[in-house]
Amino acid sequence: MKAVRFFGHKDVRVVNDMEKPSPTGDEVLLKIGAAGVCHSDLHIIDEGTVAGAIFTLGHENAGWVEEVGPSVKGFKKGDAVLVYGPWGCGHCKPCQHSAENYCDHQSELPFGGGLGLNGGMADYMLVPSSRLLVPIYDLDPIIAAPLTDAALTPYSAIKRSLHKLMPDEFVVVIGIGGLGHVAVQILRATTGATIIACDVTQDRLDFAKELGAAYGINSKDADAAEQIKKITGIKKAKVVLDFVGATSTIELGAKTVSLDGDLTIVGLGGGNFQYNMMELPFGVSMTNPYWGSRTELMEVIGLARQQKIHINIEKYKLDQALEVYDKLRNGKIKGRAVLIP
Ligand code: NAD
Ligand code: ZN
Repeated sequence: MKAVRFFGHKDVRVVNDMEKPSPTGDEVLLKIGAAGVCHSDLHIIDEGTVAGAIFTLGHENAGWVEEVGPSVKGFKKGDAVLVYGPWGCGHCKPCQHSAENYCDHQSELPFGGGLGLNGGMADYMLVPSSRLLVPIYDLDPIIAAPLTDAALTPYSAIKRSLHKLMPDEFVVVIGIGGLGHVAVQILRATTGATIIACDVTQDRLDFAKELGAAYGINSKDADAAEQIKKITGIKKAKVVLDFVGATSTIELGAKTVSLDGDLTIVGLGGGNFQYNMMELPFGVSMTNPYWGSRTELMEVIGLARQQKIHINIEKYKLDQALEVYDKLRNGKIKGRAVLIP
């Protein structure tokens, strides 16, 4: 079968000679509908964040059950499912709470399919346990694949701040890409806060406004923080969600977050923040959330089935993987690209 394989730093190839796996025990073989192309893949490919392993890329996966191992219960051939991406031990307390993204054993396990183990940029994917499958009912797997990360990650980041996102408050969203364009929609669907979007091109700022942002600010402007404070007034933004994570965006967040606000850094842009007691307003919680839980993924599916969130999808074939990564590198994907076998 065909697969997009990571061989090491800056070495990705589409191969045709992978063997189609067969499930044993509680494993499930999935016929892939689509695999989303996430900026995290570029951190792996270009920066070598997952060193030493050779594997099939793709950690945003959806498809149909093709074959189940002998001990699988509750799934049958043809069921449409998402693959929950962060694969924990399955037994520790966070995993029992379905939060495998915070599994106690994260430091000793590969991060999951497409992140050290074989992922879904292939004709078929072997999922190690049926516990990692979430049914999507009437949703189309091709459209639903990015829900597993591009929607789940911002959903989980927003949920921890929901109690602060009241209708008289402001929320800043930095980076209107795969994750950010869904974040704007989740904020609109689940909160009453006024959304201020930041990106570096007018096209992305216009896109954010179409999706529900009230304002768009170019974060490259030297006075971006002043422009945001002109909108919020003295109270500033109760929550800042940074989907870039560069030093400049973290600093922008620190300048615009309010007293007792949340500065939430999701982007893995490698930025640094020099903590100084007087540089951050008092009471700010600074967090670096990772992905989301399985039950949160079910809630995300609820939002999608109610048509409250729509992923803006660009469809490509598996053979186009290298071209698509190049487009993503150069900021040329609007919303999320998916690879379809
Ligand atoms: P993307 O490439 O689709 O979008 C990034 C967006 O940020 C683009 O619109 C780009 O124009 C914009 N941008 C770049 N520099 C900017 C700046 N200085 N100011 C404002 N906007 C800027 O990326 P994505 O797939 O949405 O991923 C975003 C980040 O989140 C990546 O670093 C990715 O690795 C990370 N991520 C983290 C988690 C997690 O669990 N913490 C999960 C998934 C992805
Ligand atoms: Zn665990």
